Amino acid sequence: MTNALPAPASAPAPLERVPGPAPRLIAVEEAFMTPGILDAATRRAGGRPSMRSGPIAGPFMPDLLDLGATRIAGMDAAGVDVQLLAVAAPGVQHLDDDLAAPLAREANDLLAEAVRAHPDRFAGMATVPVQTPAAAADEVVRAVRELGFRGVMINSHTRDGYLDEERCWPILEAIEAMDVPLYIHPRDPAADLSGSAIPGFTVGWGYAVETGTHIVRLIQSGVLDRFPRLRIVVGHLGEGIPFLLDRMDGRYPFEATAAGAPALPRTPGEYFRDQFWVTTSGMNFPAPLRAVIDILGADKVLFAADHPFEDQREAVDEFAAIPLTADERGRIAHENAERLFRL
Ligand code: MN
Repeated sequence: MTNALPAPASAPAPLERVPGPAPRLIAVEEAFMTPGILDAATRRAGGRPSMRSGPIAGPFMPDLLDLGATRIAGMDAAGVDVQLLAVAAPGVQHLDDDLAAPLAREANDLLAEAVRAHPDRFAGMATVPVQTPAAAADEVVRAVRELGFRGVMINSHTRDGYLDEERCWPILEAIEAMDVPLYIHPRDPAADLSGSAIPGFTVGWGYAVETGTHIVRLIQSGVLDRFPRLRIVVGHLGEGIPFLLDRMDGRYPFEATAAGAPALPRTPGEYFRDQFWVTTSGMNFPAPLRAVIDILGADKVLFAADHPFEDQREAVDEFAAIPLTADERGRIAHENAERLFRL
């Protein structure tokens, strides 16, 4: 008897966290491809598009090219109500200047047509020719004002350059002025980071190194103080950044002083909590999702399936199996997306 375990302390019952289906499910990092971009990328790659030359060839292409009944049937089967769509990485960012702008406009027009045909099932994010910043800024304005797009998708680096560079500021200025979120999606790592593209781990590791580096550059450069109303969305539960924020906050003051880097008016964690949202693309797993909710709050997390690169049915089932409160599930499944992207 003396070995009996103590009775559990009578604590207030925790909020009930149960698996369950979402009332409405919006998936915010869903991909498509246009024949025009596919053709240009295929010619550029000498007939064989690859992960490096983009777009990723192979089994995904038929699904990527479909913006009609088959895509909607797949959404119905999976339980996805709305797909927020953008051209698959790297968009037009790997193409020559003279092709990038017209093919981006063509892609945005094509997507706008699909959204007009299925306004309750699709919404659009603009593809922009980052390599020609003035044209990209014009396309941001056109896509939001004329096509009704809800955000802008940029696939990390463009010719190894990043959005904190002054030449890109007109793009950030246009996105901020249009009051839509900027979604920074991964692509093959830039030349400086090519060592992270380890065969078999380019997506699982290299993409996070590439995109995480982009996020840190935006924070460290001070460009977010120039554009303080810019709202940035990143996939894959924040590309690892949420897990490192405490360490960054702890080490930045010392390291920045030693390195002669500028003293930022906010801590790295404050920049991330103020101006970033994360999505569950490719990361519908219970432990990291719980950690990210604890770190950022359930208001900062949005569901994504990453169709067709992930099986959207599997993503939905995984999300449904994660224990969440009804309030958390509602926010992550649709309320945050409705507010952030005005869906
Ligand atoms: Mn994706």
